[in-house]
Amino acid sequence: MSVNNSGFNTKLIHGGGYKDKYGSVNVPIFQSSTFEFETAEEGARCFLGESEGYIYTRIGNPTINALERSVAELENGFGGIGTSSGMGAINTVYMALLSKGDHMISSDAVYGPSRVIIEEHYSRFGVDSTYVTTSDVENIKKAIKPNTKVLYIETPANPTIEITDLKACSEIAKENGLVLVVDNTFSSPYLQKPLDLGADVVVHSMTKFINGHADIVGGMVVAKTKEMYKKLRSMMIALGCNLDPHQSYLVIRGLKTLAVRMDRAQENAMIIAEYLEKHPKVEWVRYPGLKSHPQYELAKKQMDGPGALISFGLKGGFQSGKTLMNNVKISILAVSLGGVESLIEHPASMTHSKVSPADKAKAGISDGLVRYSVGIEDVKDLIWDLEQALEKVK
Ligand SMILES: *Cc1c(COP(=O)(O)O)cnc(C)c1O
Repeated sequence: MSVNNSGFNTKLIHGGGYKDKYGSVNVPIFQSSTFEFETAEEGARCFLGESEGYIYTRIGNPTINALERSVAELENGFGGIGTSSGMGAINTVYMALLSKGDHMISSDAVYGPSRVIIEEHYSRFGVDSTYVTTSDVENIKKAIKPNTKVLYIETPANPTIEITDLKACSEIAKENGLVLVVDNTFSSPYLQKPLDLGADVVVHSMTKFINGHADIVGGMVVAKTKEMYKKLRSMMIALGCNLDPHQSYLVIRGLKTLAVRMDRAQENAMIIAEYLEKHPKVEWVRYPGLKSHPQYELAKKQMDGPGALISFGLKGGFQSGKTLMNNVKISILAVSLGGVESLIEHPASMTHSKVSPADKAKAGISDGLVRYSVGIEDVKDLIWDLEQALEKVK
């Protein structure tokens, strides 16, 4: 049996196929910016792509490449491209796939900067975009224009935990000649494999679940085909937003425990979601593992688990959100998500404070919305923490 047809957990530990003459059990950090050519002829072959030899770390590096192979294998893609951050991955994809006069369709609830860069910056180069509620795919069909090139989906979405049907999106994309790009940060390949559902490209903020320890910022692009991989890789090299060897080493280390971390975190999340749903000060809870989630059935079909992100609404609105933030003792008041520690955030006063009330309403971000990224602590302690903080909320 080879690593290729082994199970997900085995691939997490043995994937990437790194081997060296020293028999290193772990992938070493190749902290070198440049690599010596044995001869001028070998240098020439490297540049022509006829040799596997390394040239320069922005183009490729053994530590970075080991991680790229690993994540690509887990996503069932042709190849991975490591980037300096999740935004580096997203910019690589936008820059490679969108040209002057092109149009992109995306969800109205996506990671803020994924939208801001299109509307504020790519628009300067003539790229147009439309944001719709993609959990109803009819809205996507209505938004398609003759110049639409990219359909960019994040599911579950940020911070509303709304779910979009990826199979339906891939059918729409195929019928209309669009490239389907999916931000898979919230699920990780352990819980969702967009390429298997028909997507062409997956992007990740590895800062979140893939690394899982809140100690690096990094990103990854995975392409389904060789052609797409080559196009995206050359763009990353041109932009210079490569991952670095030391970061890659830490992510390789974090990635090994992705499944055990996710199992524990989502077990905790389910218990907390049920607790919150019964709490008198909580108006609503959005978690794909709850039957009350509007796309509960779709989540069960397209994901292998509901994940570790919960959003919930406080009856008391804005002030209650702030009071809760100021009173948690174990959960950490911080943005980001997907780490071993539980993080709590209040979008209306924090990440989305600059978004207009109209856009917030359209994206379903109410003043009392709280986003909770559940960690792997003892769940009884997390519930104790929420209980004592909610007691102080009006
Ligand atoms: C954090 C995040 C990003 C951006 O990633 P960085 O590593 O911070 O650049 C993109 N998409 C989603 C869903 C995220 O949560």
